[in-house]
Amino acid sequence: MNSRIYFDHSATTPLDPRVLDEMAPFLGGVFGNPSSQHHEGRVAREAVERARAQVAMLIGAEPEEITFTASGTEADNLALIGAACASGQPGHIVTSAIEHAAILETCRFLGERGTKITHLPVDAEGIVRTESLLHALQSNVTLVSIMAANNVVGTIEPIEELAHLTKLHGVLFHTDAVQAGGKIPLDVNRLHVDLLSLSAHKLHGPKGVGALYVRNSVKLSPIIFGGGQERGLRSATENVAGIVGFGAAAQIAHQELESETARLARLREHIARELARQFPNSYLFGHAVHRLPGHLSFGLRGQERELGRLLSALDAAGVAVSAGSACSAHHSGEPSPVLLAMGYDAESARGLLRLSLGRFNTEQEVERFLEILPQAVALAARVPRSLYAPARTAVVGQ
Ligand code: PLP
Repeated sequence: MNSRIYFDHSATTPLDPRVLDEMAPFLGGVFGNPSSQHHEGRVAREAVERARAQVAMLIGAEPEEITFTASGTEADNLALIGAACASGQPGHIVTSAIEHAAILETCRFLGERGTKITHLPVDAEGIVRTESLLHALQSNVTLVSIMAANNVVGTIEPIEELAHLTKLHGVLFHTDAVQAGGKIPLDVNRLHVDLLSLSAHKLHGPKGVGALYVRNSVKLSPIIFGGGQERGLRSATENVAGIVGFGAAAQIAHQELESETARLARLREHIARELARQFPNSYLFGHAVHRLPGHLSFGLRGQERELGRLLSALDAAGVAVSAGSACSAHHSGEPSPVLLAMGYDAESARGLLRLSLGRFNTEQEVERFLEILPQAVALAARVPRSLYAPARTAVVGQ
């Protein structure tokens, strides 16, 4: 039995053994290239197309609207750069101040090449307001990209309203649903989105495989050129085993969505209640209601500077969680840009601890965590800074 407690599912999730079972033949004897015409190729092609249908089902899309990529990051790049190239003009992208680096850095790249970029503000709970989007839409926008759920604070954005408003202005709408996929219901038609990014490793699938939903009517230019796979939108021999794993993971997430959402929300609420009871100085980040079911971000007032030592103490006690303050080990100690955008001061924005629960977490683990946490907090407060190696557990903006 693995005695460690893994509460960092927003960073990545363990592969579901049922997914591994589906993938196994494609890592061994079933090795054909889906573009080959012979039996081996046809078997691989059928597996890829089955997975495409499974991923499509998760978000209410048509299978041909799914393009497999090598990551959520690549799906985001393809959406933004592909739309900019297809439009044949520098254009104007409206996004939010709290997007993942996969969006912010792609916007920076396009911005340096002439695209106008507008970053919408968020409120104190991390919500993008429709009024600020409405205001931005007055000035010749070509694409709006707002994440479905935030990776740092877990806030779920009002995508249906934002996308509906965007469509009324005849503008394309993309959502980065990498954190939301498989965790909350997503239906591309109900949400009115044109483009939507997913990543398999956030929903108990394998790493290194993502997907971009591209509405049938939308024209994108490829950003990777070659043999014309994925209907010319993403050349490269398909990662068949990874894609099969993504399909299986999407199917399981879809089937278990309702029961898992309720179970994880219950565990999260229990932790939140206990936190408030044990630590009167604790405060929660993100939206109280519109949040990912297994996601809880909090700070301990007055102890923000001990966060690195708290992470180390938790890690040493067998608990894996993340800090929202560190973008990477070398950025350690910097305030989270997401929290700054939400209006927190630099001190509070340094103190975020992120717990993100997943499919294999149990009530017993939650109880053990609640026993370990006060000991770790006490230890972190006592141990002199110089005696404790800084925690390496970093969010890296995941
Ligand atoms: N978008 C969001 C919101 C994420 O949280 C992440 C990963 O942390 C990504 C995009 C990138 O996904 P991937 O790790 O598949 O490149």
